[in-house]
Amino acid sequence: MAQWRLFLVVGALAAAVQLALPDGIPRVALYTAVSIVGVAAVVVGVRRRRPARWAGWYLLAGGFGLWALGDIIWTWYEYGAHTDPFPSVADLFYLLGYPVLAAGVYQLASGRNRRPGDHTGLIDVLIVTLVAGLLLWVAFIDPAWHVPEGALVDRLVAVAYPVGDFIILTQLVHLGAASRARSGAVRLLGASVILVMVADVLYQALAYLPGLDEHWLDPLWLGGYLLAGAAALHPSMGSTGEGRPPADRAFDLGRLLFLAAAVAVLPLISLTESLAGLHGHVAEVAGVGLVLIVLVISRMIGLVLQMREQAAKLAHHADVDFLTGLDSRRRFSERVEDAAACPEGRQRMPGAVMFVALERFTEINDTLGHRTGDELLREVADRLRSRLDTDTHVARMGGDVFAVLMPAADSADGLLPQARSLRALLVEPLVLSDLSVAVDGAVGVVQLPRDGTDVQELLHRADVALAAARETGSRVALWTPEMERGGTLAPALMAELRSALTSGEVVVHFQPQIEVHTGRVFGAEALVRWQHPEHGLLAPMTFVPAAERTGLIRLLTLYVLDRALAQCAAWQAQGRDLSVAVNLSVRNLLDPGLVGDVRAALIRHDVDASRLELEITETMAMVDPTRSVEILGALDSLGVTLSVDDYGTGYGSLAYLQRLPVRRLKIDRSFVAGVLDDPASAAIVRSTIDLAHQLGLSVIAEGVEDDETLLVLRDMHCYGAQGFGLGRPVAGDAVLALIDASDVRLPALVGPGTFALESQGF
Ligand code: C2E
Ligand code: CA
Ligand code: CA
Repeated sequence: MAQWRLFLVVGALAAAVQLALPDGIPRVALYTAVSIVGVAAVVVGVRRRRPARWAGWYLLAGGFGLWALGDIIWTWYEYGAHTDPFPSVADLFYLLGYPVLAAGVYQLASGRNRRPGDHTGLIDVLIVTLVAGLLLWVAFIDPAWHVPEGALVDRLVAVAYPVGDFIILTQLVHLGAASRARSGAVRLLGASVILVMVADVLYQALAYLPGLDEHWLDPLWLGGYLLAGAAALHPSMGSTGEGRPPADRAFDLGRLLFLAAAVAVLPLISLTESLAGLHGHVAEVAGVGLVLIVLVISRMIGLVLQMREQAAKLAHHADVDFLTGLDSRRRFSERVEDAAACPEGRQRMPGAVMFVALERFTEINDTLGHRTGDELLREVADRLRSRLDTDTHVARMGGDVFAVLMPAADSADGLLPQARSLRALLVEPLVLSDLSVAVDGAVGVVQLPRDGTDVQELLHRADVALAAARETGSRVALWTPEMERGGTLAPALMAELRSALTSGEVVVHFQPQIEVHTGRVFGAEALVRWQHPEHGLLAPMTFVPAAERTGLIRLLTLYVLDRALAQCAAWQAQGRDLSVAVNLSVRNLLDPGLVGDVRAALIRHDVDASRLELEITETMAMVDPTRSVEILGALDSLGVTLSVDDYGTGYGSLAYLQRLPVRRLKIDRSFVAGVLDDPASAAIVRSTIDLAHQLGLSVIAEGVEDDETLLVLRDMHCYGAQGFGLGRPVAGDAVLALIDASDVRLPALVGPGTFALESQGF
C-alpha cells in the first residue's frame, strides 16, 4: 500500500480509538499525539521528497505545528490548570497558525509558472476575504438585528476561525488551478482544510445544537492533521505548484462572475438593512466598498497589462522569423509595400528586392541533421544582417530562402554587382559549432519600382528571377518579362519542335556511365538535343521546359525512349551488355498512359526491362505525390530501374524518397565537383552514399570531371560515375568507340580486383 494511504488508515484507527475513549487524560493525550504525528509527517514528507517549493511546505508544517502547540496548551489548561478560558493563549497559537498556513499555500501557488507581476490570485483572495469578513461582521460580530452576547473580542476570535479556513481554502483552489493537474497532494490538502472548517463552524454552532458534544468534533480536527500529513507523503507533492497554468486563467469567466457576486454583496447588505429598517452598517460597507474598488481596479489594470503583453507577443510572432530573428515574410511584404508605394509629393525611391536561396541546404539538413541545418540558417541570417548596410532589410521567406530589400543603384547595371556581392557573402565558409560549411547561393533580383508596384507581384517576380538564377552559371539573375513566359526559345521556334520530332532534327546523344570499382562502362544516359538548321545544336534546357508547358513533352519523351531502346537493342545485337537511362519530366509522371507506352516500347525493341533506367527528379514526384507513387509503382513492377536525378538540388528529403520505389540516387554535380577541395561537399557526398546504402539504394555521381574525383568516389564506395572527365555525351554512332576507349583506360586507373566487397551492386 502507498505510504500516504497506510498513514491515513493508521491515523483513522487512532482517531477512532480517541473517539471511543472516555473523558480523561488518555483521550486528550492521544488527541495531541495524533496532531503532532500529522505535523511530523509533513516534515518527513518534505525531507524525503525534496519538493522544488520546499519553503511553502515548511510554512505549512509551521502552521499546523502552531495548531498542535495550541492543542498542547489547551491540554494543559484542561488537565493541568483545570480551567477552560475563552479566548485563551491556545487560541492565540491557533490563530497565529492561519497567516503561516496562508503564506505557505501562497508560496506554493506562486511557483515559477506565475507570470511576473501577476497578483490576480492574491487580489482575488483579498476580495473574497474582505466580503466574507464583512458579512460575518454584519451578521454575527456586530449584528444590528439583535444584541450580541459576550465581549467583542470573544465574538471576533470565534468568527476568525472559519474565516481563516475559508481564506486558505480559496487559496488552495487557486493553487489547484495554477498546477498543471490538480494533484493528489493538493486534493488532500483541500480535504484537510475542509474538515477543519466544518469542525470550526460546528464548534461555533454548538450553542444552537444542544445534542452535539464538543468531543464529537475531535475526529474532524484530527482528520485535518492526518490529511495534511498524507498530502506531504503523497508522491505528487514534489511537483505541487509546478507546470504551466492555462494561458487565459485571468480571463476565466467563472472567476469573474464569482468576483462580481462577491462585490454585489455590498449593496445587498445595505439594501437588506434598510428594507428591514435596521440601524445599518453604513460606515463598514462604505469602507470595505472603497477598498474593494481599489482592489478591483488594480486587478483590471493587471488584466489590461496582460492583454497588452499578449497582443505584443502575437504581433512579434507575426513579424519575426522564429528561427533567425529576421523579419518574417509578412513584415517583409509590408516593407516592400511601403517602398513600392509612392507617397504624394515625393520622388519614388529606387530600390531592389533580392531573393537569396541557399544551395544544397536540403542535403546539409538531411546528412548533418536538422540542428545543424537550423544553425546554418541562423549563421546565414547573422552574416546577412551584419554585413549588409543598415538601411537594408533582411527577412527569411521560409525554408532556405532569404529576402533582402535594399536601396538600389539607379540603373539595372548597378544591380548586378550588388547581387553578386550578396551572393559572395554566402560563398565564404560558415563556421558552425563543429564544422565549417561552404554554401553557395543563387540571387534573383527585381528592381523597384520598375518591375512592379504590387507587393505580391513583386515577390512573385523575385521568385521567378531566383528560379532563373539557379539555372545560370553565375547564379545571379535580374527579372525580365521573358522569364514569365518561360524558356529561352521564341514561340515561333516552339511551333517547329513538333515537326522537328518527325524530321529527324531532334537527336539523342549518349553519355557513358562507369562502374566505379571496375572502371568499366555499364550503360549510358540518353540526352536529347535539337540539331536546328539555323540555330545549331540546341541544348535540352532551351526547349525541354517549353515542350513541358505545351504538352509536347509526351511525344518528346517517347521519341527519346524509342531512340534509346533502339540503341540498346543494337548494342545487344553486338554482344554488348549495356543499359540505357532516359530522363522523364514532371508531366510524364502525371500521365496515366506512360506505363503502357514504356511497356510497348520495350516489347517493340525486344529489350529486357532491367536494361532500362528511368530518371526522375525528387521535386517531380512531389507535384502530385499520390498519382506519381502509383505510376512509379507500376513502372517498378515492369522491372524498370527508377533513379532519382539531380539528388540534392530539390526540396525532397531522403525520408520522403524512402517511400518511393526508387533504386538509385544520382548525386548532383554541384556536390561532386567539390569533393576534392571542399570538405563540406565531400562530407555530403560521403554521407549520402552511406545513407543510400542503408536504404538499399545505389549511388551514381554526376559531373565527374577528372580522374582524381573518380578515385575519391572509389574510396567512398560509390557505385557509378558519369561526367565529362569520363566521357562526354556523343551521338549514337560515336558512342561505342568512346566506350571501348574508356574500357581500356579506366579499369587500369581504378586498379584491379580490390573491390570484391562492393560487387553486390553498391
Ligand atoms: P541531367 O539529367 O542532369 O543530365 C546531365 C547533364 O549534365 C547533361 O546536360 C550533361 O551533358 C551534363 N554533364 C554530364 N557530365 C558533365 C560534367 O562532367 N560536367 C558538367 N558541367 N556537365 C556534365 P544536357 O545534355 O545539357 O542536359 C541538361 C538537362 O536536360 C538534363 O540534366 C536533363 O534534366 C534534361 N534532359 C536531357 N535530355 C532529356 C530528355 O530526353 N528528356 C527530358 N525530359 N529531359 C532531358
Ligand atoms: Ca539525368
Ligand atoms: Ca542530373
